[in-house]
Amino acid sequence: MDFQLSEQQHELQAAARKFARAEMPAVAEICEESGHPPGREVLRRLGEMGFLGVNIPESLGGLGLGNLEALLVLEEFAQISSASAFPLFEANVGPVHAIVHFASEALQRKIVPEVCRGEMVLAVSMSEPQAGSALTDLTTRGVVADGKVVLNGQKRWCSGGGHSDGYLIYTRLSDDPGAKGIGAVFVENGTPGLSFGAQEDLMGFRGVPSADIFLDDVTVPEDNIVVPAGGFRKLMEAFDLERCGNATMALGQASGALHDVVAYVQEREQFGKPLVDFQGVQIKLAEMQMRVEAARLLIHRAAVNAQDGLPSVIDSSVAKCFANEICREITGAAVQLMGGYGYSKAYPMERRMRDAWGWGIAGGAIDIQKTNITAVMVGRRFDQRR
Ligand SMILES: Cc1cc2nc3c(=O)[nH]c(=O)nc-3n(C[C@H](O)[C@H](O)[C@H](O)COP(=O)(O)OP(=O)(O)OC[C@H]3O[C@@H](n4cnc5c(N)ncnc54)[C@H](O)[C@@H]3O)c2cc1C
Repeated sequence: MDFQLSEQQHELQAAARKFARAEMPAVAEICEESGHPPGREVLRRLGEMGFLGVNIPESLGGLGLGNLEALLVLEEFAQISSASAFPLFEANVGPVHAIVHFASEALQRKIVPEVCRGEMVLAVSMSEPQAGSALTDLTTRGVVADGKVVLNGQKRWCSGGGHSDGYLIYTRLSDDPGAKGIGAVFVENGTPGLSFGAQEDLMGFRGVPSADIFLDDVTVPEDNIVVPAGGFRKLMEAFDLERCGNATMALGQASGALHDVVAYVQEREQFGKPLVDFQGVQIKLAEMQMRVEAARLLIHRAAVNAQDGLPSVIDSSVAKCFANEICREITGAAVQLMGGYGYSKAYPMERRMRDAWGWGIAGGAIDIQKTNITAVMVGRRFDQRR
């Protein structure tokens, strides 16, 4: 067991850190003020740097490195903000991996290189008004006939909804009940019958726009089926990587907050000395450090155990739950340690706290993840309906 990063991993992490700290704070500010995601010129620049395909095969335009390398890069951007890191999240751990693993070669060649260049942004659309935690209740239906799929339904909470160039839509593709009938279809923006609801006004995640998606006889070629009916398990396997990404985005909120607050408590003086000289503050900082390091180790374990395949459900769920919980705690503690300045929008700390909460709902609520963990622990699945 080796807990050291290799020289190459250190170099990649350092390059990502340098770039993110120099260029992304300004992007984060614009996203927060406007509510819009990073602009196309930013995406192209991220693509040129290789940050949008770290763990995608070189044959498809990526760097061909592993999941751990992708997560190392992602944390550096997440420390700046969720919105400015979101394009990396989508490209390195998001729906593009379902396409890399399960789509036809033609569809892979059409989509993946463009994603790596920052010319195409993908979003995943699973949730529906009546299907959140109970995802297998989803009712969007795709009918396959004459080499085409015709989709009808309504999706909800799609991050990137209305702004992305392509959507991986979870849908029923057969009349089989529950998970058995579910597959996923790629739909390009601009396809007739595809429309979007108003942008949601969320507590955080500004710059990660979210909207309902309406599918009204949306017709795409049959080759756009990424996973046919019966492949729900495959989709969830690919989603285990997204869970590690979600955990890393949560970790970034926490480790970014800790980084900034450590500097702050050494500068800010009260009672004639820096805040860090008070033992109560020292203990709080140590507790924050312990949690950040533990979350990081759990995430890295999930990535390394997968040996660049897809992470296991237990490793990814344990990492996600832990990071989701500690990021709320740590960003809250950091706001408190900065006093009125922490609560002010003039500093990024309160934004991190608002964003942190969302990561424990997105990608599966914390308590649902916990039921998955216990299911693996005892070796059986729990039917939530009975
Ligand atoms: C910031 C953000 C981004 C998102 N991005 C996307 C996206 O890009 N694409 C997408 O498809 N969806 C997205 N979602 C939706 C997300 O996946 C769902 O919100 C999530 O799965 C929970 O579903 P729900 O909101 O319907 O809550 P519900 O399913 O109604 O659950 C509400 C609460 O009830 C509890 N609960 C429910 N069932 C159980 C149970 N069996 N056992 C114990 N507790 C239970 C949980 O604590 C849960 O927090 C996003 C959500 C957020 C907040």
